[in-house]
Amino acid sequence: MDNKPQGCLWCDYRGPVVAGEIISVVNPQVTLQHELRRCPECKAAMVDIRWPDRIMRRKVRESPRRFRRSLWVIVYPVECAWCGSHNTDAYEVNATVSNPVSTRFKYDIYRCLDCERPNAISYLGEVYVHRADQDKEFFSLWHLDPDVE
Ligand SMILES: [Zn+2]
Ligand SMILES: [Zn+2]
Repeated sequence: MDNKPQGCLWCDYRGPVVAGEIISVVNPQVTLQHELRRCPECKAAMVDIRWPDRIMRRKVRESPRRFRRSLWVIVYPVECAWCGSHNTDAYEVNATVSNPVSTRFKYDIYRCLDCERPNAISYLGEVYVHRADQDKEFFSLWHLDPDVE
């Protein structure tokens, strides 16, 4: 296995990326250092995370704040639990879930761009994807693995 990531996760660029500072992200998978990287082609941001045995590269998105440091959000590779598509995008970070698998877990919501249905992921240590359902009354509340009608 290749333990040095190559190129950009956002575009087809395969060369060396631009190194940046250590950042903290709002939804880390592990409490290891996250080093900012930028693609010289598309300028998109990524982080390199130094695991003991390898470096993991993830997409990040910057959320600028006035007069304060930006927030950084990791965008995980998520396969839609409804239709299997990899064409998904982050939608909500640290969502409130009515029925978490563990109270330790935090959840992000991803929308599938193909079937347009929501997924919830937990990402501590490993990424798990669940079908998700938005509450009919409280729109910031989500339910995991709803019964399929
Ligand atoms: Zn790129
Ligand atoms: Zn889907």
